[in-house]
Amino acid sequence: MSHGHVVVIGGGGTGAAIVHDLVLRGFTATLVERGELTSGTTGRHHGQLHSGARYAVGDREIARECMDEVRTLQRIAPEALEMNYGLFIALTDEDVAFAPTFVEACEESTIPTREIPVEQALRMEPNVNPAIKKAVQVPDGTIDAWRLPLHFFATAKHNGADIRTFTEVVEILSAGSAVTGVRVRDLATDREYEIKADMVVSATGAWAEKVARLGGIHIPVTPGPGTMVAVRKRLNNMVISHLHPAGDGDIVVPQRGLSIIGSTQWKTDDPDTVEVPKADIDYLVKRASDLIPVFSETPIHAAWSASRPLAGASSNVEDGRKMSRDFIAIDHGTSDNLKGLISIIGGKATVLRAMGEKTVDMICSLFGVEEPCQTAETPLLPHRAFYNSRLAVRPQEVSL
Ligand SMILES: Cc1cc2nc3c(=O)[nH]c(=O)nc-3n(C[C@H](O)[C@H](O)[C@H](O)COP(=O)(O)OP(=O)(O)OC[C@H]3O[C@@H](n4cnc5c(N)ncnc54)[C@H](O)[C@@H]3O)c2cc1C
Repeated sequence: MSHGHVVVIGGGGTGAAIVHDLVLRGFTATLVERGELTSGTTGRHHGQLHSGARYAVGDREIARECMDEVRTLQRIAPEALEMNYGLFIALTDEDVAFAPTFVEACEESTIPTREIPVEQALRMEPNVNPAIKKAVQVPDGTIDAWRLPLHFFATAKHNGADIRTFTEVVEILSAGSAVTGVRVRDLATDREYEIKADMVVSATGAWAEKVARLGGIHIPVTPGPGTMVAVRKRLNNMVISHLHPAGDGDIVVPQRGLSIIGSTQWKTDDPDTVEVPKADIDYLVKRASDLIPVFSETPIHAAWSASRPLAGASSNVEDGRKMSRDFIAIDHGTSDNLKGLISIIGGKATVLRAMGEKTVDMICSLFGVEEPCQTAETPLLPHRAFYNSRLAVRPQEVSL
């Protein structure tokens, strides 16, 4: 018997992980996405599988969580990852002086590091700036931004989740101080209809504030877009990062036959009207060329922007149940006296499964249900099972 019906708004990586976890724990789940799956930030991110090394100096907890999730994703969704490692390179004496702090922070965050002699690093990555002074290898990698969430969607669908694309939530319905469901518009037919629910979860990332307003509440979240530039050649095999405190334009990620530099970051009012500033493209190409000189001579394939939700310093957000320093879930029953609505904000594609786990833990606690999370141990179905359920056989189960 189902514990209740939960509607998840948003078909990015976070919604994917939540809907998968919900059905595994015995809930009935419907996910609605106004566009194609991953058409928000998830389909536009940099594609780095974060070992956490980038965050270790600033926040050991976030770094350790990234490393844990890399290990978990390797078990449950290996087909969506390229475990090509990462190389942090020092370009200046200041970078060299920063290296011991970096290595120590990684070790304290359970992230293995290995210093590679400069000559060997240049043999491994011949396009890297020959003037590098130090190189440290870490277990970063590359994510297939489409396949990883699709593994979760495929498994959720196979287990009974109802996934509706091109379905936009236009109102969050309530009676008194409790949410009763959502009103949606089918964008293919323009027909509006209601979906009744015992609980609604907004996994709408940079759109979280817009969606909260559909329920008559305000959450202080500002969309924070960033630009990335891809050139038409795979110039590096490992993720190349500048060995210095994390900043703009300091990572080049190899993604299939492309190399992608990212990113910048600014603030906007509306994630639907984000542009790709020419100045950002020029800046990023210049920064990429500091790491990989040939980057600036390689034809540009594309430049695009994607938005993060930047949490504001409101007491409502701070009072919500904080789940990690990197992402928060807000129980609007507590913060806004609107029971049955949760917003999940922040995080990274790398930690999508952990975000799903913490959100469904919160849902279970609000329903008074005791069902342990199984997603870290449950291998996901191949992404292709989303299109054809007859392909719902895990690669591990096929014997030749
Ligand atoms: C520039 C940049 C680079 C990044 N690089 C990396 C990286 O290399 N590695 C990494 O791990 N993470 C990276 N991230 C972070 C990562 O992209 C995000 O954390 C993640 O994609 C967020 O997923 P999400 O599902 O929460 O949001 P989204 O993917 O944005 O999903 C929200 C969905 O909600 C839908 N929606 C909105 N309103 C409605 C409505 N009314 N009705 C129905 N649906 C609605 C949207 O269409 C959207 O699809 C990056 C982020 C940015 C901005």
